[in-house]
Amino acid sequence: MKRKGTTPVASVQNDEIRDVIIVGSGPAGYTSAIYTARANLSPLVIAGSVTAGGELMNTTDVENFPGFPEGIMGPDLMDNLQKQAERFGAEILFDDVTNVDLSGDIKKVTINDGTVYNAYSVIISTGSAYRELGLADEKRLSGKGVSWCATCDGFFFRDQQIAVVGGGDSAMEEALFLTKFASKVFVVHRRSELRASKIMADRALAHEKIEFVWDSEVVGIDGDPKVTGLRVKNRHTNDETTLDVTGVFVAIGNDPRTDLIKDQLELTPEGTIAVDGRSSQTSLKGVFAAGDVIDSKYRQAITAAGSGCAAAIDVEHYLADLKTPAQAAN
Ligand code: NAP
Repeated sequence: MKRKGTTPVASVQNDEIRDVIIVGSGPAGYTSAIYTARANLSPLVIAGSVTAGGELMNTTDVENFPGFPEGIMGPDLMDNLQKQAERFGAEILFDDVTNVDLSGDIKKVTINDGTVYNAYSVIISTGSAYRELGLADEKRLSGKGVSWCATCDGFFFRDQQIAVVGGGDSAMEEALFLTKFASKVFVVHRRSELRASKIMADRALAHEKIEFVWDSEVVGIDGDPKVTGLRVKNRHTNDETTLDVTGVFVAIGNDPRTDLIKDQLELTPEGTIAVDGRSSQTSLKGVFAAGDVIDSKYRQAITAAGSGCAAAIDVEHYLADLKTPAQAAN
């Protein structure tokens, strides 16, 4: 579904050159929008048609974003960030970027209807995408019992047995959320130790509806046309068992979303966009990056927001240097 911002986007002429375009609308994108809007740079945020708001739109309680002692629902946090950006004049377009040309002094950003927007600077804050197990069955049964989003699909598994794959915070969060619906939740993890934070791990380990299947990798997903079982193999004994489940939630992390820019910007060995030190400066001048797309380590909503702030300040300095006294006088 295409969401509409509360600020109408004026029709933009192709020859107009903006100060800054922000691609992506998670905590990094919206925070850079708030800061650049407050710096009178009139940012255009191209938020995405389906992915607007980013990963937190698929989350329930966010308990660790500072300033919300009782926690806040992920979609509410993103709505607040969007409204805050709009309050200072950010324009938000709920469309998808299909192409970028970042090489020249004037950056070109094309959206799905073919409109090209021009800007002196661009902030790439495209976040990350759910990682897949890479099994043929996963693709075949996607949407037919295989899912990457418990808050989206959990409801369909009322009183059924389901499995969550992964051992990080996402997997614990998904498993705990799914206990509201499922009769039993298996957590299949490839090691005997969780990667999740202690608070999340302890909650999941103590939950009566959650059973851990340790040291196990997924070797297949049964069912046609819908999931009927998950085949797992113990990594030490090589014993294969089939878990009697109708749903499989894959929560094995994310990969930076770099498809748009991977041929134009330098990437790190981890696949994130390479930036200069703690700044948001990418390998091309006038191009900045923020959030999960530059972060293989912390990947928290608050660190993404902080990096969006840094990108906005970097853009502000870049534009100030770009505008010579002669230009500034115009
Ligand atoms: P993550 O921390 O990278 O964990 C991914 C998990 O999936 C790991 O346990 C990993 O196993 C497993 N895994 C990876 N590839 C696999 C594969 N091909 N097959 C089977 N298992 C695989 O990712 P995440 O859980 O999405 O978390 C990402 C970041 O977001 C973290 O910094 C996390 O703290 C944060 N986060 C926070 C919250 C919260 O605070 N409420 C909620 C969600 C996410 P190994 O352990 O063996 O590597």
